[in-house]
Amino acid sequence: MKKILTVILCALLIATFATACAPKEDGVSKIKEEGKLVMLTNAEFPPYEYLGANNEVVGIDVNICQAIANEIGVELEAVHMDFDGLISALKSGKGDLIAAGMTVDEERMQNVDFSVTYADATQIIIVNKENPKVTGENDLAGKTIGVQTGTTGDLYCTDSIEGADVRRFKSGLEAAMDLKNGRLDAVVLDELPAQSIVENNTDLALLDMESTDEQYAIAVNKGDEALLEVVNNVIEKLIADGKIAEFTATHVEASKGI
Ligand code: GLN
Repeated sequence: MKKILTVILCALLIATFATACAPKEDGVSKIKEEGKLVMLTNAEFPPYEYLGANNEVVGIDVNICQAIANEIGVELEAVHMDFDGLISALKSGKGDLIAAGMTVDEERMQNVDFSVTYADATQIIIVNKENPKVTGENDLAGKTIGVQTGTTGDLYCTDSIEGADVRRFKSGLEAAMDLKNGRLDAVVLDELPAQSIVENNTDLALLDMESTDEQYAIAVNKGDEALLEVVNNVIEKLIADGKIAEFTATHVEASKGI
């Protein structure tokens, strides 16, 4: 009898603590109170996010977040910053979610919760057409490679390519400019943004990189289950309705010549 009572008492104590420690306010109530959904992004990643004709942030991720804002019944605001500052900005409350072509990754998962994924991606190599210093993935060892700081391309080149001299840039485009100037042997970047750069710089070319396989998702603060549920429902519906494919086609086209 005594044992049973002790067990019940312990269970009650644990339950009380768990309730007391639970977050007071969920992300969705806060967004409704403030009347806006703030999306943190790095608008140097076409077609996912880039600056439109009036300097406003546009792209596939903006379309997805607009659908999330509509679902909650609020306005959407996009905040642009360096890619490697996004997670700390989310954690310090500068926005409600990150939508930045962000790859789901174990280390990031210790700091944020990811939604269901909405795109498959790979890294790809950009080379100078006139003077290609690299002819394929196996050729990257020991080369000078440009990447965007804090991205999966940065991690991959730093951790997995032997003897690589990895140079970090604020954007893939900045890295590509140094490739044109002959200061780099190659740039490693996500496929669609790399295609957009090559589209606008005909002296550059792409080489496949088959060993990488990534998925993009939206990141919310750890434990923000209410917001994550809305985000997941919206993404699943957009995928089922063929909308993500539509947004992608639109922005691949629209980001040509930017
Ligand atoms: N997908 C890459 C990553 O998550 C790059 C994203 C980006 O530069 N916006 O690191």
